[in-house]
Amino acid sequence: MKISLENKTKSIQMVDLRTQYDRIKSEVDQAIQNVLNSTAFINGPEVKLFGEELAEYTGAKYVIPCANGTDALQIAMMALDFKPGEEVIVPTFTYVATVEVIALLGLKPTFVDVLPDTYELDPAGLEKALGPKVVGIVPVHLYGQCSNMEYILEFAKKHGLKVIEDTAQAIGAVYTFSDGKKAQAGTMGDVGTTSFFPSKNLGCFGDGGAMFTNNSELAEKLRMIANHGQKKKYYHDSIGVNSRLDTLQAAILRVKLQHLNSYSASRNEVADRYDQAFENHPNIRPPKRAANSTHVFHQYTVQVEGASRDKLKDYLQTKGVPSMVYYPVPLHLQNAYLEFGYQFGDFPVAEMLCKKVLSLPIHTEMKTADQEYIIQSVLDFFN
Ligand SMILES: *Cc1c(COP(=O)(O)O)cnc(C)c1O
Repeated sequence: MKISLENKTKSIQMVDLRTQYDRIKSEVDQAIQNVLNSTAFINGPEVKLFGEELAEYTGAKYVIPCANGTDALQIAMMALDFKPGEEVIVPTFTYVATVEVIALLGLKPTFVDVLPDTYELDPAGLEKALGPKVVGIVPVHLYGQCSNMEYILEFAKKHGLKVIEDTAQAIGAVYTFSDGKKAQAGTMGDVGTTSFFPSKNLGCFGDGGAMFTNNSELAEKLRMIANHGQKKKYYHDSIGVNSRLDTLQAAILRVKLQHLNSYSASRNEVADRYDQAFENHPNIRPPKRAANSTHVFHQYTVQVEGASRDKLKDYLQTKGVPSMVYYPVPLHLQNAYLEFGYQFGDFPVAEMLCKKVLSLPIHTEMKTADQEYIIQSVLDFFN
């Protein structure tokens, strides 16, 4: 009993950014100080260097840093010349950003369902979503593993569609094609987009994002649109936006990129311990690994079966264990997107998941004792 009380006051967090920072404090502080000394706050040398280092890490030919992951999606759609009235296929079970930019650009989201065990876009839904106005697909590598890119890329090629991979949750995940070829999340489609929001697997100390592509023409276009549509200062070739990664953030990200592999390994260790604890549990269904992708566990998301997810969540809260529902409402049923004409029942898997999913704390600094306390608290709920 005493142990649980101590744990309760220790305040377990979903993500422990403080301890993560403490472990690399000297490197990060030095990097920040260097930028302060240089005063090159906008487009300083670290921005370019970080882009090059991330290109090397991911295997993408070009990496274009920008202000955040939402901008990255918007700029990608602008660079691919998606026009108002055209349609983009997107999973309904994801973060809102993907669909938000589709709507903002006057495009129409054409939703597809997801798979009930891996949470990825259901390839079987693509055929039905197809129509004369569809110009692209945005697979979202949800929670940290790649969607079925082999199928999606073949489907896109067959129907002349562009593919934008939303890799905000899966940076570093590796996909293996049936011929044995491997590629990282975000480097397989026409454009990949990611976010460096602090809690993402590669997070900065504010907002940040990037776009990946292997196409030099597209890279130039993405860079131009992110920079007010100009290649040469004060000469504007297209309508653009202002979307920059701060030099300070780039300097921090250069340090953190060095640790990304070990961060992914730590997350996998946490996931494995959860898997073992919940294996064969009648009420907790652990997340399934996708067949051809590694997992970087941005989230560890279980499904609660035969019991109330919300009651479990409340119970955990009383034990000092946070948990989150990613996501409580599928996008086709969000008030903001009802105008697109979908209704309840259209995507039964996503609708079911919204009631059953629960994400447990997972991060790079998880202590074994804390995790044991989390696991015990979950198990206690059902006893
Ligand atoms: C975080 C996230 C985004 C948006 O990134 P921001 O940097 O917050 O704009 C987009 N898509 C997914 C799937 C995300 O998880």
